[in-house]
Amino acid sequence: MKTRVTEQLGIRYPIIQGGMQWVGTAKMASAVSNAGGLGILTALTQPTPQALAQEIALCRSMTELPFGVNITILPAIKPPPYEEYMAAVIDSGIKIVETAGNSPKSFVEKFKAAGITIIHKCTTVRHAISAERYGVDMVSIDGFECAGHPGEDDIPGLVLIPIAANALKIPVIASGGIGDGRGMAAALVLGAEGVNMGTRFMCTREAPINDQIKKALIAGSERDTNLIFRTLHNTARVFKNAVSDEVVRMERREGGCTFDDIRSLVSGERGKRAFAEGDINAGTISAGMIIGLLDDIPSCAELLERMVAECRTSLASASLCFRSSSVSDKNLS
Ligand code: NAD
Repeated sequence: MKTRVTEQLGIRYPIIQGGMQWVGTAKMASAVSNAGGLGILTALTQPTPQALAQEIALCRSMTELPFGVNITILPAIKPPPYEEYMAAVIDSGIKIVETAGNSPKSFVEKFKAAGITIIHKCTTVRHAISAERYGVDMVSIDGFECAGHPGEDDIPGLVLIPIAANALKIPVIASGGIGDGRGMAAALVLGAEGVNMGTRFMCTREAPINDQIKKALIAGSERDTNLIFRTLHNTARVFKNAVSDEVVRMERREGGCTFDDIRSLVSGERGKRAFAEGDINAGTISAGMIIGLLDDIPSCAELLERMVAECRTSLASASLCFRSSSVSDKNLS
């Protein structure tokens, strides 16, 4: 499976584990890289830039294969020292960075000078075009189905991926709504050269979260997510639970609500506790619509081998189907 994504990142399969707050640790990232994909550490999951440098060193001790670091810049309750996190990434010799949440303009130069390949994740084609112009190496385009922050335009992957592939010269990675080899095959047919998954990787054996959370996610249907922060223009897709239902109720009440009204419900610290303790109602938990398709908790290696095999079969059977229908069309005429 060779695409520009596998070639430029030095990985076996064009499958990337996206940044996930509280999930993208060395255990998760090394498991994905060892399985042939690209594992990604989430910078802000670490409490300090020093702790991030230690996590990078730990990940290196767990895999000899390439892995990257995600840096997401979005509104935060306590804005982290982003510059210091970036310095920790560069000083640690990391060669792949996934940026998200904000324009990459201000940091492309610094990362490129350090020889870093930049994958910029965004949710609109216009932002992807700007990112290409600023000099990023690949764009991960995130459809409305995705977990976390889908942006405000609500364009699903089926539309977003081919438009992005038409508009960009650099490789496009499809993100959001992909959980098996059929989704991967569809993304490749739409013009992507790789796929990015978060929710699917949360439900693997190596994901560093309590099993009760994994079980709750795979028991959920495609209707079991909520969009929160819609009224604050910082939309996030999270699992439908008591906390996110309450946030939606407060946002929809007459007069709406401010961030301060919901801060204690949505804080990342609460989500972190839910992951650690396995209490699905302890906080907000990012989850994509793809939970409706998931029904098991495989290892990362099992998942990637299965996905790639299924992707190959799907591509072959689609082309077979096309060939046989063109034969029968000819017979008809
Ligand atoms: P946090 O506790 O700072 O905030 C919790 C949530 O509230 C986040 O979704 C945040 O974007 C949102 N938020 C904070 N202040 C806001 C405001 N003034 N208006 C509207 N929304 C607001 O978040 P955290 O869990 O400690 O995460 C730290 C940062 O990482 C946040 O910016 C978060 O969005 C971001 N993040 C990263 C990833 C990733 O994969 N790297 C995933 C999700 C979120």
